[in-house]
Amino acid sequence: MSEILIKNVTLQGKQVDIQISGNQIIGIHPVPEDNNQSTGIASLMSGIANFFSGMSSGDHGAGNLPNIAKSGMSRGARDGATVQKPKVIDGTGKWVIPGLINMHTHSGMTLTRGFEEDKPLTAWLNRVWEVEQGLNEEMIYWGTRLACLEMIKSGTTCFNDQYWMIDQAANAVEEAGIRAFHSYVFLDGGDAEKAKRQRKEAEIFYERAQNWDPRNQFTIAIHAPYTVCEENMAWVRDFTKENNLLIHTHLSETQNEVNESLQRYGKTPIRRMYDLGILSDRVISAHSLWLNDEDIALLGETGVTTVHNVNSNLKLASGYRFRYQELTKAGANVTLGTDGCGSSNNLDLLETMKTSALLQKAWREDPAALPLNELMDMATINGAKALKINSGKIEVGALADLVLIETRNCAFTPMLDFHANLIYSANSSCVDTVICDGNVLMENRHVPGEEEILSRANDLALRLNGKQ
Ligand SMILES: [Zn+2]
Repeated sequence: MSEILIKNVTLQGKQVDIQISGNQIIGIHPVPEDNNQSTGIASLMSGIANFFSGMSSGDHGAGNLPNIAKSGMSRGARDGATVQKPKVIDGTGKWVIPGLINMHTHSGMTLTRGFEEDKPLTAWLNRVWEVEQGLNEEMIYWGTRLACLEMIKSGTTCFNDQYWMIDQAANAVEEAGIRAFHSYVFLDGGDAEKAKRQRKEAEIFYERAQNWDPRNQFTIAIHAPYTVCEENMAWVRDFTKENNLLIHTHLSETQNEVNESLQRYGKTPIRRMYDLGILSDRVISAHSLWLNDEDIALLGETGVTTVHNVNSNLKLASGYRFRYQELTKAGANVTLGTDGCGSSNNLDLLETMKTSALLQKAWREDPAALPLNELMDMATINGAKALKINSGKIEVGALADLVLIETRNCAFTPMLDFHANLIYSANSSCVDTVICDGNVLMENRHVPGEEEILSRANDLALRLNGKQ
């Protein structure tokens, strides 16, 4: 079992040592005023020794340890497995935050970064579908590796994905060390034969996903209510309920989509999904930009998670009036996403946080429209809640998904407000070290294998886009 000790790092303004064992945080200890460098290691070693003897420790601020024994987190140690010497990371000058959670993206699309700029939505979409005809498994693998690399470098440890060839994407995620949710995507365009085939395929992919690494999880996507027949939507509703799976969908992204739904069904897309019995707290709804008051009430009543993809919405000119305050007030869970690189061009959640806040403040004409603490929650704990994982927070017992931010630079000087510096002043180059599931994925901004990922992804992207 791997052990990590992060020494002398700043958590919410206080100096602490953080102990990680296996994939979980097992201790957070205040660093004494005199900054005794040996306390953390002594505490870690005594904690480990106590697991062996089944005793709890009352000193060294290790009062959290009995909880761990209770919840069975240190199984390996109690079973007598060899505990390695801990890896020690010097957190001096760094702050720790939970790993960010990107709640809506299409990771394989990273190969389309910059492929079609300044075009109307329909022309852009036609080009997406044309390019996607040429995708193969190798492209999905390396495109997803590139996406994971970019997310690690910008502080994201978990993402909710919707794309093709999910076995390849899951392989890429397993290799990258990050955490991801992959959707089998329903998109039948009303073709009954295809719809039937998709139901069979979804079951096959679900079975196969049982063998995935636990950092990969399977979900089902209804691409959008206008691309999937009602028979399949009902099937997804029942299958996901039976198997307790999440549903990932695009809802009310454009004004056009809402108008067409009103014309065809006499209902908004959200009212339609509600009437079909699909909405629940297992549903993650990307965009949800064009909402009336009834839509908001329905999303709140059913506890749906919405994902604000501000950069994609702005760039595709889909709109910008995301009704954040009304949604949270109604009880919906609100999170952030980047969308795919074909539309948003990057997977940088810090940038998404900044744009979201600036835009809310501007169109509401209210500087308090989206405060910093709520932005942080949208990018961390709210995502974890939607995905039903014990992440998005730094506390004993949580998954060890965390990010160290380098603060010895202009963006963080003076240190009057860490979160303001992080979101409004810095950019992702401040992300120094990333740990996911108890493994160090990046240290001092170095990700092993980075050069190969960049070169393979670039070659395949040129081929995919007909430039080679
Ligand atoms: Zn999308």
